[in-house]
Amino acid sequence: MSGLLPARPRPEPGEILTSWLARLAIENGTSFGRLIAACVADTHYPSLDLDQHLPTPLLHGLALRTGLAPEVVRRTTLTPLMERYIGKRQRHGAYRWFMPVHPVRQRFTMHGQQLCPDCLAEDAVPHYRQIWRMSLVTVCPLHRCLLLDACPACGAPVDQRLSCDSRAPHHEQESLAYCGVCALDYRSLAWTSFDPLPTRQLRLEIWGPGITQKPSNGRLGKIALEGEVSRLISWQQSVLAPLEGRWIAIGGLCAETRSYLDTCRHLLRALTYDSRTLAFRREVSKRSGFPSTSLVETNRLKFERSPVRVRYANLQNLTWILGDWPIRFQECAQSLDRPPYGLLSRAEAIAFPPWYENQCMLAISSYSREIQTVLLKINKKVRAR
Ligand SMILES: [Zn+2]
Ligand SMILES: [Zn+2]
Repeated sequence: MSGLLPARPRPEPGEILTSWLARLAIENGTSFGRLIAACVADTHYPSLDLDQHLPTPLLHGLALRTGLAPEVVRRTTLTPLMERYIGKRQRHGAYRWFMPVHPVRQRFTMHGQQLCPDCLAEDAVPHYRQIWRMSLVTVCPLHRCLLLDACPACGAPVDQRLSCDSRAPHHEQESLAYCGVCALDYRSLAWTSFDPLPTRQLRLEIWGPGITQKPSNGRLGKIALEGEVSRLISWQQSVLAPLEGRWIAIGGLCAETRSYLDTCRHLLRALTYDSRTLAFRREVSKRSGFPSTSLVETNRLKFERSPVRVRYANLQNLTWILGDWPIRFQECAQSLDRPPYGLLSRAEAIAFPPWYENQCMLAISSYSREIQTVLLKINKKVRAR
């Protein structure tokens, strides 16, 4: 258990740890589990979500066997993204904005890993990105298509480690582009695939006409966009690349990243399963044109456990409101039968940022003014008698 591995490909920019490990295993002619066993003695490591929790002995073992600095290895895990989006206050096991994969017997049993078939098709070496594990990322910013969180042929969760272990003999180097269960080549779904017509049909079946983008002027890769996909992508990009690492500027609003995301979280709850905000949710859905998809999971992190399509629709409603803040919010919140008090009630006793709280107060006060007007009218009538 010492010395350098014979083949030592470096992680690609933005590549996630398990993707790099799977490539290391392939290039060294071994399996995912055996590669880890070559770095550290603990045999239960392959059944951990290593991207979220990389044990320190394995981190050092990998650094030693690949000749990379431990920091380079650490940067491929989700830790740097978690530090940015959820800070140090992490509860073990489940994190906001990061989807669980729940490995059981060395297989992912949850749909927490996504992929973009076009990205895999354009990669010199197909590899998986860190941001594909984030629940707020539902669309590829480069190819503007919905990400896949399951194999469209067999329905299995996307799992790069399984792709590595069950690789087809003819496709050794590219095996991360194949489903580990049914060996579907995910790249056959890319616009740049050799068979554009069946691909188009397949994409329509998987994503539906609303999300499937068409190549414009016959030029593959150049894609005609629908307005709503652009809005979601620009929101996604603002969140993924905050200004100076701290500030998010969206739709006339400049807010501190973490409190902004906390508020997004609260709004998502209001838009998906909070019974106190049902009327508001219906109003938003009516105006935005996107279905209000209720989240049915009863566990924590309902949003992270939802399929990509559900997250997509919910984020569309959210970014519709935030895209023209506070106008759309006020229009919806002021057109209900009752003041939307539910928008101000949250599970944790943490204060809302002023940009949100003030707008809620404004919406609620608009109702009391209405009530006051009604009372005045009644009083006038009483006095007139
Ligand atoms: Zn892509
Ligand atoms: Zn499959």
